[in-house]
Amino acid sequence: MNDHAATTQHWINVARHTPLGLLCDLDGTLVPFASSPEEARPAAEVIALIEELASLPGVTLAVVSGRPKDWLEQFFPTSNVLLVAEHGAQRRGAGAWEQMSGLDAEPLEALGLELDRLAAAHAGALVERKATTVAIHYRNVPRGHRGALLVEIYGTVDRFCETHPSFERLEGRLVVEVRPSIVNKGSAVSWVRARAGADARIVAFGDDLTDEHMFVALGGTDEAVVVRYGDARPTAARWELEGSDEVHAVLHWLLGVRQEHTPPPAVLPREVHPQAPSSGDAAHDLVVISNRLPELRHVDGEDGRKKNVGGLVSALEPALRSRGGMWLGWSGRTVPDAQPRSAGTIEEDPAEAGGVQLASFDYKESWYRSYYGGFCNSTLWPLFHSFPSRVQIKDADWQAYVDVHEAFADATTKLAGPRAMLWAHDYHLLLFARAMRRRGHAGPIGHFLHIPFPSLDIFSMLPWAADMIDAMLDYDLLGFHTPGHVANFLACASALLPAKVADEVVQHRGRSCHVSAMPIGILPDTFQEPPEASAIEEVLGLMRSLGDAALVLGVDRLDYTKGIPERLNAFGRLLERKPEWRRRVSLVQVSVPSRADVPLYAEQRAMIESIVGRINGEFGEASWVPIRYLYRSYPQAQLAQLYRAARVGYVTPLRDGMNLVAKEYVAAQDPENPGVLLLSQFAGAAVEMRDAVLTNPYHADGMARDLDRALRMPYEERKARHVRLLATVQRSNAVTWAEGFLDALAACR
Ligand code: UDP
Repeated sequence: MNDHAATTQHWINVARHTPLGLLCDLDGTLVPFASSPEEARPAAEVIALIEELASLPGVTLAVVSGRPKDWLEQFFPTSNVLLVAEHGAQRRGAGAWEQMSGLDAEPLEALGLELDRLAAAHAGALVERKATTVAIHYRNVPRGHRGALLVEIYGTVDRFCETHPSFERLEGRLVVEVRPSIVNKGSAVSWVRARAGADARIVAFGDDLTDEHMFVALGGTDEAVVVRYGDARPTAARWELEGSDEVHAVLHWLLGVRQEHTPPPAVLPREVHPQAPSSGDAAHDLVVISNRLPELRHVDGEDGRKKNVGGLVSALEPALRSRGGMWLGWSGRTVPDAQPRSAGTIEEDPAEAGGVQLASFDYKESWYRSYYGGFCNSTLWPLFHSFPSRVQIKDADWQAYVDVHEAFADATTKLAGPRAMLWAHDYHLLLFARAMRRRGHAGPIGHFLHIPFPSLDIFSMLPWAADMIDAMLDYDLLGFHTPGHVANFLACASALLPAKVADEVVQHRGRSCHVSAMPIGILPDTFQEPPEASAIEEVLGLMRSLGDAALVLGVDRLDYTKGIPERLNAFGRLLERKPEWRRRVSLVQVSVPSRADVPLYAEQRAMIESIVGRINGEFGEASWVPIRYLYRSYPQAQLAQLYRAARVGYVTPLRDGMNLVAKEYVAAQDPENPGVLLLSQFAGAAVEMRDAVLTNPYHADGMARDLDRALRMPYEERKARHVRLLATVQRSNAVTWAEGFLDALAACR
């Protein structure tokens, strides 16, 4: 028998079983979603279908809902249909209503009044009172306003639950509800079984997280059917259907089977493959999620196999390998918005590149524009680097940011087990934990921010500031590069939310989020490896062209945060103020092309080229070019040679999360004749690398003086500083950083 025939036979057996119990949730299961709870009413044919099923001999049918009893009774007045209202608090058996014993709902009156006040201040919010619960619906609140409202709802509800521990908060679809904690839909299962008979086989249908209580209360021969709306959240159900139309079709078919004419099924529940990834492998215990997948640069290892030398991937590879982990990210491709199904479809890389298994999906073109180019790089990037005048704020970009998080969460749910450890990276994924929690993910979720976190006054420019912090607190662990970034985040959390902050733990909505400074490191030894001849040749050519001039080296992506114009101008100022350096020093500036299609970056490039032209024109001579400007990138081996040849590592970003170039420069030095690191005080690296010559990139005269000092630094001082800097770089390297993060994340639980 093939799978389809076996499934059909299975369901025929279920449908024919006597006694048969049917539990149907109402909203989202029998009734599709509407824009208000008032409008979500079962159609006349659905009511007729339910009545007909309930009147069949050997069938006991209950509608199990969170709605109040009067609401249910208006649709199902006859006593054939059993009704379970308010998640089980009220039940109608043989015509009469009864309340679950031991319930005292009186304290909810005061909470209801507080929620009324909130709803009055937020257009579209609606408070619903029932006998034993109170709920606030926000589906009609405009999206951009929901975050602020939710923050207030959580504050009010959590304060209530703290003082009334017998009540709990419940999250439904765009509704927050408070009810006595002893009530849940699971109680409906034994109640229906008591009426149907101990040997009854029960089938439960439901779409919501509250319906999972029913599913877990079922017995071994019962069946749970989850109703989905394009989601893939983990569920206790064995079967799934898509939307309420499929539920109606299955119930029709069941009716036919019970009436002895067994029609061919139009649709039957399909078996859920809960956390099975698309390739059919076992679900992963660790998933790393980032916008971009790591660039897997390969070199031949000694054993002839390919060896990976990428930055972040080298750091994570041991952890991913030992834990059977996977890395999910954007494929780097876009598809037209008109092909909705192909965006978000996961592709796994069967080759397990570099020992790390990869999975990727395509972005829609509009996501690339509004999420990647828009909210990530035109809003968050300048905002978090404290460049307020460059920040663009658009509603559509924020919406795309929210949407892409949903796509990442859907993809992750397919790859990860329900308790898997998830580690998201950087400003592209700040809302990821919330999207996962809404899908029921129960495992630890951590985030590391690779860029700075700004001060409260800058962060507050974001219209969605409070909502973003609220979402970030769904992570168990938030890692930042420096204590300053941590302090900024904590200040935002306590100022923008009713959250409790103590000892780097934020308590909010009944959960704890740990916040920690854990500066990222590099793999220092890889910058000391003897180079291959081919790697040296190109660098030697460049060195020969410099003659005897001392090399001052700048290496960055071409980005306005890196302060390249300021750096060039300060170099020009040195040549102007200290003419003795002319012909004796050359600046090589490597600028790696980055975001070249963004106008701001193209302008930056033009500005840099004009400054280079001006300084070379003013000071250059036939035998000496003051600045060599190289708009290109180098592989790591050649970069290491350049670093080693440079008398001064000129690393002066206006603002930087960490700046790995600073650490790499130190790691690559010849310990017997080390160069000097001239480092911006605004790079995250400056916190650890106190033995660098620290400089203020906004102060050209000062930076020129610091450069002069670095170039003149006596040998003994150079060496002493280098010893201490190298020890710092070696102490916390990339692998200890990754393992440290994952250990801390595990310890949060
Ligand atoms: N890099 C490179 N080739 C180049 C220039 C830079 O591989 O020609 C690498 C460099 O080794 C470093 C990274 O790019 O690992 C830059 O990281 P950093 O933290 O300094 O700045 P980011 O670009 O992440 O802002």
